[in-house]
Amino acid sequence: MNDSYLSLGSNMGDRLGMLKQAVRLLMEHHAIEVAGISSLYETEPVGFTEQPPFLNMVVRIKTDLPALTLLGICQEIERRLDRKRIIHWGPRTIDLDILLYNQENMETEQLVIPHPRMHERAFVLIPLLELNPELKGFEKPKDQGVRLWKTYDSLDAFVRKN
Ligand code: AMP
Repeated sequence: MNDSYLSLGSNMGDRLGMLKQAVRLLMEHHAIEVAGISSLYETEPVGFTEQPPFLNMVVRIKTDLPALTLLGICQEIERRLDRKRIIHWGPRTIDLDILLYNQENMETEQLVIPHPRMHERAFVLIPLLELNPELKGFEKPKDQGVRLWKTYDSLDAFVRKN
């Protein structure tokens, strides 16, 4: 089984609802086992800053799928949740990125792993290290506009419909 971490973010509409649906779609996939989910963090936008704050989280998955197939599934989930993004780095209903895939390094036109900007993103590193504090090569950043929004004690609580 491959061990992978995904970063999920939303800053448009029902942000929590979007993240829940994305996690549910991952769980429903026959070749993906969701092995852990972080708390939710609220984050001030980077890049284009005139936009609402994001909710961010990290999900750990186990899968037999190759990394490129996993990327396709992430993009399909983005499409299904009707991601709209008019401005580059602007508001989006949902964003899914592959952070890590085992300890592999990969660089193709479609996919770069580890995700090239993860080391500088507190909103990625904080939930990632919450999920797995043992991960080598990452340091917990100072807060940088990232605040704990909601803690979940179990996957069930997170995906429950109400
Ligand atoms: P974004 O719009 O920021 O989600 O970026 C999506 C684009 O980044 C897609 O065209 C992907 O092919 C590419 N990409 C490269 N590396 C990754 C990665 N590790 N996770 C997700 N998308 C990636």
